[in-house]
Amino acid sequence: MSDCLFCKIAAGHIPCTEVFADENILAFRDIDPKAPTHILVIPRRHIPGLSAMTDDDTDLAGKLLMAATKIAAAEGLVPDGYRFVINNGEDGGQTVGHLHLHILGGRALAWPPG
Ligand code: 5GP
Ligand code: ZN
Repeated sequence: MSDCLFCKIAAGHIPCTEVFADENILAFRDIDPKAPTHILVIPRRHIPGLSAMTDDDTDLAGKLLMAATKIAAAEGLVPDGYRFVINNGEDGGQTVGHLHLHILGGRALAWPPG
């Protein structure tokens, strides 16, 4: 997807502060953090969002979740807790049309979200 911001980041065409990378997954710090720790975890392959996933993406979805879980632990968030968020579509607050999971931690997070 030549016009996708996160595809450009995954391709190295736009810089990011990388936290984790393997052949399927990239994680980097959010440019506008909403918590002391705010990391975005994305599949390298362009998937527009949760609602675009198919059964063929089941393995990738598991890899995304497990990568995020390990990153949260590596960032020291386990003792105090953390939150994963995936916004989907306009009402869900999604602003970048490439599937991404937010890792939020480092402070007590309000519930319910706005
Ligand atoms: P969404 O609102 O789609 O769930 O989340 C998009 C996130 O991407 C936002 O938290 C926003 O701050 C972040 N973001 C937008 N542009 C960039 C960028 O160029 N670099 C990084 N690292 N994060 C970005
Ligand atoms: Zn993309």
